[in-house]
Amino acid sequence: TMTICKKMQDAFNAQIEKEFWSSNLYLEMAFWFRARGWKGFATWMFKQSEEEREHAMEMAKFVLSRGGEAKVTAIEKVPTEFECPKSVFEITYKHEQEVTELINKLADVADDEKDRASANFISRFIDEQVEEEETVKDILDCFAINGDHAIGIIDHHLGKME
Ligand code: MG
Repeated sequence: TMTICKKMQDAFNAQIEKEFWSSNLYLEMAFWFRARGWKGFATWMFKQSEEEREHAMEMAKFVLSRGGEAKVTAIEKVPTEFECPKSVFEITYKHEQEVTELINKLADVADDEKDRASANFISRFIDEQVEEEETVKDILDCFAINGDHAIGIIDHHLGKME
């Protein structure tokens, strides 16, 4: 039986689509870095891409576990041209801030619907966004502090990051 309301189900499906879009964005960035020899940045982006796909899958499984339906929709095209490594991380930071907004709105739907199970499930993603924003901000700080000549070191460092 369906224990999740349609409004919550639809909100999750909209977020699942965004998570897949994020996954494609980071995959495109990984390809862009790899094609230019930035192996560390590419490795980091491949990991991010996988994480976003996992988010989509976790959300889909949650909707299904509550008797709802998860949908795979057409994913809008992601940007394919980037200026430089630093600009890729600036785009990433801005994107993560937008994702935070979306997750907060998803939590608002759960609150409005008094859906405690969904609110509880979403809280993990709220924590996750704090981490994501901090990580990308740290990378941008690295660029700002060390300058462009340190880009090889940042690339090397990111390739080894967990
Ligand atoms: Mg995500």
